[in-house]
Amino acid sequence: MQTKNCTTCEKEFVIRDEDIIFYEQMKSPHPLYCPDCRMQRRLAFRNERTLYKRPCDLCNTDGVSIYPPATTPFPVYCHTCWWSDKWDPRDFAMDYDSSRPFLEQFKELQAKVPRIALLVIDSVRCDYTNNAGENKDCYLIFAAENNEDCMYGRLVQRCKTSNDCAFIYDSELCYECIDCRQCFKCMYSEQCQSSSDLLFCYNMRDSQNCILCTNGRHMSNAILNVKYSKEEFEKKKNEILSSFENIEEAKKQFEELKNQSIVKYAFQNKCNDATGDYMYNCHEGVRLFDTSDAKNCSYMADSMDVKDSMDCNNFYIKCEFEYDMMGVLGGSKNKHGFYVMWCTNTEYCDSCYTSNDLFGCIRLNKESYSILNKKYEKEEYFKLRDQIIDSMKADGSYGQFFPPDMSPFGYNETLAKEYFKMERDVALDKGFRWQEKNTGTFGKETMPENTIPSSIATVTDAITSEILACNECGKNYKITRPEFEFYKRMNLPLPHKDFECRHQARMAKRNPRKLYPGKCMCEIENHLNHTGTKCEESFQTSYSPDRKEIVYCESCYNQEIA
Ligand SMILES: [Zn+2]
Ligand SMILES: [Zn+2]
Ligand SMILES: [Zn+2]
Ligand SMILES: [Zn+2]
Ligand SMILES: [Zn+2]
Repeated sequence: MQTKNCTTCEKEFVIRDEDIIFYEQMKSPHPLYCPDCRMQRRLAFRNERTLYKRPCDLCNTDGVSIYPPATTPFPVYCHTCWWSDKWDPRDFAMDYDSSRPFLEQFKELQAKVPRIALLVIDSVRCDYTNNAGENKDCYLIFAAENNEDCMYGRLVQRCKTSNDCAFIYDSELCYECIDCRQCFKCMYSEQCQSSSDLLFCYNMRDSQNCILCTNGRHMSNAILNVKYSKEEFEKKKNEILSSFENIEEAKKQFEELKNQSIVKYAFQNKCNDATGDYMYNCHEGVRLFDTSDAKNCSYMADSMDVKDSMDCNNFYIKCEFEYDMMGVLGGSKNKHGFYVMWCTNTEYCDSCYTSNDLFGCIRLNKESYSILNKKYEKEEYFKLRDQIIDSMKADGSYGQFFPPDMSPFGYNETLAKEYFKMERDVALDKGFRWQEKNTGTFGKETMPENTIPSSIATVTDAITSEILACNECGKNYKITRPEFEFYKRMNLPLPHKDFECRHQARMAKRNPRKLYPGKCMCEIENHLNHTGTKCEESFQTSYSPDRKEIVYCESCYNQEIA
């Protein structure tokens, strides 16, 4: 084990023995900055949800893009044009100039090669989705696959008619749910599974018709964890949903309940020898967040079905031996790149597909042995690649991710801002870019907040032509027709915030991607694992020491709740 001081935040961080072996296997120098700063830098290359209207630079069709029209140096193409043979990324090939830093030359390539407007695969009527695939009739959902009729969500998988949800799987008719699986008609609920008709519930399993309940198992017709009749449940439900004010009151009550509840030190299931949070079936690894089915992986987030890799984000489908990547599907032995799909042996690449042995390339598909988009003979490629690596080692850039100013996005447009909040001046000071232009409009509202009907009952479809203003940031927003129909059907009052503020509020309810040393707070006598009256178990937890929840170790939690 070694310790080092992060060159970015100056904090001390640990390089474990396992890390050292991995860096040797990957032929990579040790990282210069800490795990948090590494993740922050990768995330600054991912704009999921800041969208701009702009036409395709090839066919001129109007569209939507993650790249703003005025400040993007490279052309932006619609999906059809980008994948067409109307242009050739080889036309932008550059010769390597050994007298100049490599990344400076890559930056020149970056400014020329066209980008795809949105990352969307096989979707139908989903113009406003990104980092998404196989969706039908969805609107403003991100990092989402196989959904139908969903709106305003992040990380929505295999869901139907569910709006304003985050990290929700296999669910239908849900609203404002976070970290839920197999739920039906649940609203304002968190960490629930295989349940239906829940309202303001936390960590329920196999339950139905519950309001303001926590940690319930096989519970039905309950309010505040107390059994009631079905009629009383319906009465209470209608009362809460009948007005915006009642919903706001219930939200407060729900936060109080969550604060007092017993929680497991980490949201994890079937994990062994792994630290992190929101994990499922992870083995041997540290600092895993929102990761499932991972073996021998560390410092990862938003990943699934991967092994023997480190420092990757948004990393899916049978990836192995990958290091320091953002946005990967399949492949192996890729380093320091983003949006690299089904590739092997690539380094410092961007948006490359089904290729092998690429160094510093952009938008190559089914190619090999290329540097700065120029093709070489195999032997020549390896010779030149090694020469470039030596030059990068000499200037200190090798083995680290692209510098933050090479991101095509402003920090405030990217996923980095959701996990590592930073003010404009600090971000600029640290070398990140900043988007000064605000999307959307302000001050154009036709309906002031105090005139929005409190109950959905009196709202007509005329609402879809009104312009509202967010009560938090002031940005204008509209109620779309499918959205209005959803609120009517679910008996939900209209929201008073725009979709971005609603999303940020949900993200704030999830635990941060941070780990603190913690100790089990259980004092229940007769627990099997206790030596004295108290439990002595310690762990790494995302619950900071100043939080109010009662944090239990796995064993105590299983004996009390499971
Ligand atoms: Zn750091
Ligand atoms: Zn086009
Ligand atoms: Zn807002
Ligand atoms: Zn315990
Ligand atoms: Zn205990």
